[in-house]
Amino acid sequence: MKLISIVVPVYNEEENIEHFYEEICKTMQPLGYDFELVFVDDGSKDSSILILDHLSQRDDRVKPLYLVRNFGHQIALTCGLDHAKGEAVITMDGDMQHPPTFIPILIEKWEDGYEVVQTVRKTTEGVSWFKNKTSALYYKLINKISKVKIQPGGSDFRLMDRRVVESFKLYKERARFIRGMIGAIGYKQIQLEFVAPKRFAGTSKFSLNKMLHFALDGITAYSKMPLRFAFYLGIIFGLFSILLTGHVMYIKWFTDEAVPGWATLSVSISLLGGIQLMGLGIIGEYVGRIFEEVKQRPLYFVREKPNILDINEKNKE
Ligand code: UDP
Ligand code: MG
Repeated sequence: MKLISIVVPVYNEEENIEHFYEEICKTMQPLGYDFELVFVDDGSKDSSILILDHLSQRDDRVKPLYLVRNFGHQIALTCGLDHAKGEAVITMDGDMQHPPTFIPILIEKWEDGYEVVQTVRKTTEGVSWFKNKTSALYYKLINKISKVKIQPGGSDFRLMDRRVVESFKLYKERARFIRGMIGAIGYKQIQLEFVAPKRFAGTSKFSLNKMLHFALDGITAYSKMPLRFAFYLGIIFGLFSILLTGHVMYIKWFTDEAVPGWATLSVSISLLGGIQLMGLGIIGEYVGRIFEEVKQRPLYFVREKPNILDINEKNKE
């Protein structure tokens, strides 16, 4: 039987894990595949770890990994992908917003020969108007300014063939925007739409701050457009100042009027100051990211991984 891995990052999901586990078992049992459930605990502070411990003792298909602190959703996903052994790997959230009932469809498409089965959120129930709108706008923007194409509503609910996972593992960048990375990797991809239901329990673990950071990661990782934007602005204002100089010279030499204005002066100084600072800020954003990347720090540390054996440990047995 083929092995399917299901990778689930969890962060303070004590009310969701057991329900999720049962739903996965219910969905997977009739399909005729072996499966493993790779839960990556992203430094939870509630009893998620206890529950995972308990589950993993009862069922050795449950393979939890405990990260030493909160590294963030994308890193937790990466850790799970590094440890998953299946011929196909499905990544999904543990809060039921990625419905397990959709898994058979993903697998069917995989059996049809697709190597990435990507899901696209059509609508999300119970999500604020603000989040839906900003998300739609964001995807429009990123598709405009970068080469990789990311579907609006692209989610991290997807199936990847083993070959895609192996390619993914070769990407070592620290600022991760997995949706973009998968698009950039290529392979035979297909998109499927789904409606994301409400969370089963608990609240969203993404603060506005985390979302903004994630959004910026996506833009800076796949586009140099902001840098070019600063350059274009420079050109526009350079041209404008040449025109203004011509105007001032004309008044001074060909009319009797005095050259007017400290108002023009103060406006142009503050305008240019603002634009220069903005340009510096854009450059700074990229320099900061270069700094993060060149340090080559490890992406994560795992405290414990019950039910997962390293190859060395396996040889010892
Ligand atoms: N998550 C994580 N680390 C974090 C934040 C979230 O592992 O720092 C997990 C979380 O437990 C959930 C998934 O990522 O399984 C998606 O998070 P959430 O449901 O809060 O995001 P939303 O659906 O609101 O965008
Ligand atoms: Mg969610």
